[in-house]
Amino acid sequence: MTSERFFPDGMPQPLADAITLPFWQAASEHRLVVQRCTGCGHTRLPPAPICPSCRSGHSDWKEISGRGEVYTYTVVHRPIAAGQQLPFVIAIIALEDAGGVRMISNLVGVDPKHLSIGLPVELVWEDMSGELSIPRFRPASR
Ligand SMILES: [Zn+2]
Repeated sequence: MTSERFFPDGMPQPLADAITLPFWQAASEHRLVVQRCTGCGHTRLPPAPICPSCRSGHSDWKEISGRGEVYTYTVVHRPIAAGQQLPFVIAIIALEDAGGVRMISNLVGVDPKHLSIGLPVELVWEDMSGELSIPRFRPASR
């Protein structure tokens, strides 16, 4: 899967820690994953040390397709980094094969006037550097 650029280099970057590092390592390989409890199968994102369903501390990672639909969104007219194109869209994506997990990200490649809740979307990777790839979403091409 290729990468495109949508946001400037000066965008604030996510901070990886011991809990979220596997997510970002998979992202750097253009694999979108959700954390899955090995005790009960509950999936979660963002990653957390304890399963909110059964309190197990054991988990693995499930790779998902990156397809989903817009659960909700907001259109932002103020920049958070120099050189940023406005407006931009922050959305919550309901991921279709992730056990009910929703993910906060950006919608790209779409005129905000044409957005709607339920819009089918697909994953697109944005390589911000050699190490950091961020999952964004755009209207599905299917
Ligand atoms: Zn569990």
